[in-house]
Amino acid sequence: MIEVKDLQKKFKDNIVLKNISEHVNQGQVICVIGPSGAGKSTFLRCLNGLEQPTSGQVLFEGQELVGLSDKALDHIRQKMGMVFQGFNLFPNMSVLKNIMIAPIKVKGTNEEQAKSTAMKLLKQVGLADKADQYPDQLSGGQKQRVAIARALAMDPQVMLFDEPTSALDPEMVDEVLKVMRDLAASGMTMVVVTHEMGFAKEVADQIWFMADGYIQETGKPEDFFAHPTSPRAQEFLKKIL
Ligand code: ATP
Ligand code: MG
Repeated sequence: MIEVKDLQKKFKDNIVLKNISEHVNQGQVICVIGPSGAGKSTFLRCLNGLEQPTSGQVLFEGQELVGLSDKALDHIRQKMGMVFQGFNLFPNMSVLKNIMIAPIKVKGTNEEQAKSTAMKLLKQVGLADKADQYPDQLSGGQKQRVAIARALAMDPQVMLFDEPTSALDPEMVDEVLKVMRDLAASGMTMVVVTHEMGFAKEVADQIWFMADGYIQETGKPEDFFAHPTSPRAQEFLKKIL
């Protein structure tokens, strides 16, 4: 579904991604873990064209993203939902409107259809009773669940998450992870940058361990966490587990 070939990204002289080649298959859940500054966010942003690689290729369903016009890129990006650390909800719109707006504006979905999809998604993330509230009336965990519902409203083929729980108070982390677990169980293709090792262990099909701009090691969670092979991963796990 997503293929990355020899991806390199520099910011001035700083080489942040160094010749990464990997692929994400349909239905796979990939958890990307690694120390701060490893290049995880930059990598994720390259996957959906938010960041233009310095060299290499990113293909989504066989189509090359690098070098596309903004318009063409927008079209592809609709198929990739993205959820960030911050929630980026529209503060002046109700929860329901937040979820309805992109399908209506971008896809031309009619109001009634957009509303029924939004209500279904709110139910899915456990917030059907919050439809008419405004973002500042919600807790962080609730906002993040709305952000996930909003991304799902575009009916994406893959969901990209960049540390979706790291800005949350600890007691709100689980409710968001539960929504993500359910999504994974439903067969959604997901790439998740996370520090939640419990989630990664339990939900990931593959762990991609990043450090110093490389994917140092990939593997099934049971192998990776029990027997990391790269020295960087061994060091990282020793610190956090
Ligand atoms: P964290 O776990 O802290 O989120 P990360 O693994 O996501 O870290 P990135 O945010 O991808 O790391 O950053 C990797 C490197 O790229 C860092 O050295 C950072 O300073 C640099 N970098 C990221 N974005 C930019 C930018 N827009 N301009 C210049 N340098 C950048
Ligand atoms: Mg990051």
